[in-house]
Amino acid sequence: MAGKGSKAAAPSNVLIVGVGGQGVIMMSKVLALVCQRHGLQVKQSEVHGMAKRGGGVFSHIRYGETVWSPTIPKGEADVLLAMEWSEGLRWLDYLRRDGGSFIADTRRIVPPFAFRSRKYGSQPFYSPEAPREVMEMVGSGFALDATKIATELGEARAANTVLLGVLSTALEFSADDWREVIAENVPAKALEANKLAFEAGRDWADASRASTVENRLKELPGRDKEAAEIAPKTVQFDITGEWCKGCDICVKMCPERCLRLNDELIVELSDPEACTGCRICEWLCPDFAIRVRRVHALEPVA
Ligand code: SF4
Ligand code: SF4
Repeated sequence: MAGKGSKAAAPSNVLIVGVGGQGVIMMSKVLALVCQRHGLQVKQSEVHGMAKRGGGVFSHIRYGETVWSPTIPKGEADVLLAMEWSEGLRWLDYLRRDGGSFIADTRRIVPPFAFRSRKYGSQPFYSPEAPREVMEMVGSGFALDATKIATELGEARAANTVLLGVLSTALEFSADDWREVIAENVPAKALEANKLAFEAGRDWADASRASTVENRLKELPGRDKEAAEIAPKTVQFDITGEWCKGCDICVKMCPERCLRLNDELIVELSDPEACTGCRICEWLCPDFAIRVRRVHALEPVA
């Protein structure tokens, strides 16, 4: 377990990475508050300059009896927690090779410039490593579809709390410490969903540890499965209007220019024929207001 016995000399290091809108900073704050409850010094440094446009966000958190520097040197992160798959791979060099834990959401948020072809069904240029391959490379790895778990609980935006649940099992603090800090820091209306998400993350981590390495790897997608998940045949486009805050990100970033904001500043699909189902709008929406579903070429079409 990373960070166990860390109240001694060397500080513990947790690196949290993701893209704008995923809650990286909120997660860092929760961890920092848990540490402070134990009278530990905490130093945090973060970069979120391009967050609003879906850019990378990272936060270094260091805690212990005495912490001098706020940044984690390469190869010294006890835990690397990635809310987006490719961002996790980008920071892998920072993970300690002797027992560091890699916790990653397998969710992919592909930046628009990764699409070099706008043809229907084209593949983005994106990190080719599949979760199964990466888990074989790291000492202690946890790859999960946190977004799916949160969605099944009825609140896709609680994916970050699912990951906090997994993180809580990798650090020395008690589950109640985390529960109390989460309860004090999420909006009242989202509290129940976040409580469920936290427990779901812990349960997933416990079940994962109890499973054999072979079974854990078997459950992860390899490249074949990922390739089958692309290649759309038909596109179904759904907008949850009450979640849309009219930020305009999807409208500006849609490569086919087929979205617009209506008079109430809610996004709508203005040109369904032009929509290729590329899902850029879905991946970039910070509020999960868009869902693009595709019927795969391999599936029977009703
Ligand atoms: S759907 Fe999402 S990205 Fe688009 S305007 Fe609404 S909140 Fe912004
Ligand atoms: S509306 Fe969304 S899925 Fe359709 S082309 Fe634009 S970005 Fe892609």
